[in-house]
Amino acid sequence: MVTATLLIAGVAGCSSADPSVPPGSSVLAGVADTPALGASGGGAMTVENGYVADGEELSAFADVPAITGLDSALRTAVQDAARDAAADGVDLHVSSGWRSAAYQQALFDAAVHRYGSPEAAREWVLRPDESSHVTGDAVDVGPTDAMYWLSRYGSDYGLCQTYGNEMWHYELAVERGGQCPPPAADPTAG
Ligand SMILES: [Zn+2]
Repeated sequence: MVTATLLIAGVAGCSSADPSVPPGSSVLAGVADTPALGASGGGAMTVENGYVADGEELSAFADVPAITGLDSALRTAVQDAARDAAADGVDLHVSSGWRSAAYQQALFDAAVHRYGSPEAAREWVLRPDESSHVTGDAVDVGPTDAMYWLSRYGSDYGLCQTYGNEMWHYELAVERGGQCPPPAADPTAG
């Protein structure tokens, strides 16, 4: 199964790059904890900027900028998927959605601090002008069983995992019922 292979690749990529981040948890949770974010970018960590607290999982139907700032077709797709996942007994939540450029910059700065260089940081967090979160075209989903559910059924909604090292990151990439293209290895490979 192609899907299973990609999932394993995603977990392996996550674990090998950063053993402190358990498979299935967003690397941004760790990044957001770094002192750099508090010092330089703490002002961007507000609900208005699309900030979602570490460990907080939003409903796909929540009336907050992280959700309402998403492209409407993507938002509808995620909501449809969440509704059907719930019918399967799986709670599909959003751990990150739309982000303001200021919030993305704060995350990037924190990632540079965490990973040691802009080049290393870009494997996990893109700059504001590169990130599909800033344009409202990406969601990070959770928890782990929801990631597995979406890896299996996401294409029914046009939702595809776009980076092999981020099994939580989905974008609207095909028509509903289409076949998702293979993900890029990581955000720098696109
Ligand atoms: Zn993402």
